[in-house]
Amino acid sequence: MNNPWGKLTGIRPAKIATKLLDRGMNDEQVIDYFVTECGTEHDKAALALECAKALIPARENMYENGVSLYIGIPFCPSRCLYCSFVTNGTKQAAKLMPDYVEALKKEIAYTADIVRRNKNIIETVYIGGGTPTSLSSELLDSMLSCLESEFDLRKVKEFTVEAGRPDTIDAQKLEVLKAHGVDRISINPQSMNDETLRVIGRAHSAQDIRDAMALAHSLGFDNINMDVIAGLPGESLEIFRYTLEEVEKLGPTDTTVHTMSVKRSSRLNEYLSDYDLTDGATAAKMVDFARGFLADRGKRPYYMYRQKNQLGNLENVGYSKPGYESLYNLYIMEEIQTIISLGCGGVTKTVDRATDRIERIFNVKEPKDYILRLDEMLHRKDVLTGAEPDFRHRISEFRREL
Ligand code: SF4
Repeated sequence: MNNPWGKLTGIRPAKIATKLLDRGMNDEQVIDYFVTECGTEHDKAALALECAKALIPARENMYENGVSLYIGIPFCPSRCLYCSFVTNGTKQAAKLMPDYVEALKKEIAYTADIVRRNKNIIETVYIGGGTPTSLSSELLDSMLSCLESEFDLRKVKEFTVEAGRPDTIDAQKLEVLKAHGVDRISINPQSMNDETLRVIGRAHSAQDIRDAMALAHSLGFDNINMDVIAGLPGESLEIFRYTLEEVEKLGPTDTTVHTMSVKRSSRLNEYLSDYDLTDGATAAKMVDFARGFLADRGKRPYYMYRQKNQLGNLENVGYSKPGYESLYNLYIMEEIQTIISLGCGGVTKTVDRATDRIERIFNVKEPKDYILRLDEMLHRKDVLTGAEPDFRHRISEFRREL
């Protein structure tokens, strides 16, 4: 099978480009390394290099003792065909949500104490999932109020909340986000073709996306990311082109172009033969089109990653207008800052920048488990204080349990 990345199998090609630049290579030498040593196509090597170069200003301005916070909200209105995350449909999970938020507030308070003792500065906050705006405005307000009172957020440079599904957004929720200092949101169409939205199990239309964007803009959100997927079942290059054209009319500052990947635990994988999957060559044309189309609109690639089983062995790329590169996306993809993760499915990653050593602390994935085993989740975070002497042993123990 054709692999435009050659023998590179890792998920972070841009990280390799960053390391080569750090070793003093110039642009040409970096590209040459990818092409000759890894068998990467020239165009993909240039993409990795462009993303690596986007990191440079962000890295220079990082706080000395900065960390980022991630909070996971594992609820969505329905499960998308291709999704492998643990998400709990909002109707069934409605009873669980208040208990989940209460548990989360305890983890927020516990972690804030550790952050204070470590004298860390919170640099970015990212609330993802799932779809965080699946929570009611009251629960969102309660969680964000707790976050604000426990952590010192005065030096936060970027505060993102994923409001991915338009069917979870209303003025009240967006006003709550605004009141708590959220300055970046994500509204994700994936496709602007109604038939595709139906096929992939999204309970909304393309018009709902337009309405949600208009509402968000009217309430003062001026930094909005939109995600699309190249290679959704049944989509041709023409439909993908239409999606991108429609999305760009809505004025997102940041457009993330994912390539369809067939995840092991997705419904798509289970019923694969029922769907008309796009072939790798067409998916490649879609991502090439996106790159040129977005470049013509002043957007540059700034972060990228690859996943298993992506059509055509392609990649996911975030494109933004200059100055709108998401710091959180850069930090997490390039693994240059400790990210402390709270809530279900959270993976805390500690990064020692001097040695490049990375350690992980896992939270459980199911909300019911999280609520029941909260004390254990809290104590897992004790390693962040350095109080736990056998860190690596404990981490492998956590992995076995999961
Ligand atoms: S919105 Fe995202 S997390 Fe929720 S079901 Fe769809 S893919 Fe999964």
